[in-house]
Amino acid sequence: MNSTECLSIKDLTDLIREVPDFPKPGIGFKDIMPLLRHKRGISSIIDHLIGRYQNKQIDQIIGIESRGFIIGAPLASALKIPFNVIRKPGKLPSKVEKQEYALEYGSDAIEIQSDSISSGMKILIVDDVLATGGTACAAYELVTKLGGSVLEFCFLAELGFLNGKDKLSTLQTKVFSLIKY
Ligand code: AMP
Repeated sequence: MNSTECLSIKDLTDLIREVPDFPKPGIGFKDIMPLLRHKRGISSIIDHLIGRYQNKQIDQIIGIESRGFIIGAPLASALKIPFNVIRKPGKLPSKVEKQEYALEYGSDAIEIQSDSISSGMKILIVDDVLATGGTACAAYELVTKLGGSVLEFCFLAELGFLNGKDKLSTLQTKVFSLIKY
């Protein structure tokens, strides 16, 4: 791999390492840190995404905490599109909308600032990994509750064997992943 050029999708894939049994036994965690530490890591991810989202009339890019911020913010910067965040509960000041969602065991929740989306806005939702799709579905609920419409979900990587894409297909929104496992 030439360290000055845009990394290929294969290069990006090779730089993501799988950590077994993290954070719990049985989970194969896709660790994107080796990719981010490569000097062309982040810029190559963004270079691959720019072509897809240029001239798409996106009003806002939303990153999901926390690794969605790492990809969403530089993509928004490159495309000169406003950036917004969806965070874990209790992190955002001011009035928020909250959405709970089921995990394999128990439940979790995410929040968005209530005044951060205007009715009719076209939104691109960005995260690092699509696993079961529960987080992305909850993000969709938050955006639509505030009157926004989700143009597409964008992931760095998708774990196809967990069928998250099937879950998201019920929302009638497109799903794009740079890397598919
Ligand atoms: P899910 O709601 O099951 O689609 O999980 C998606 C969220 O959990 C994303 O924000 C990911 O960062 C994280 N995640 C889930 N599974 C993994 C995994 N195997 N490797 C890395 N991150 C994961």
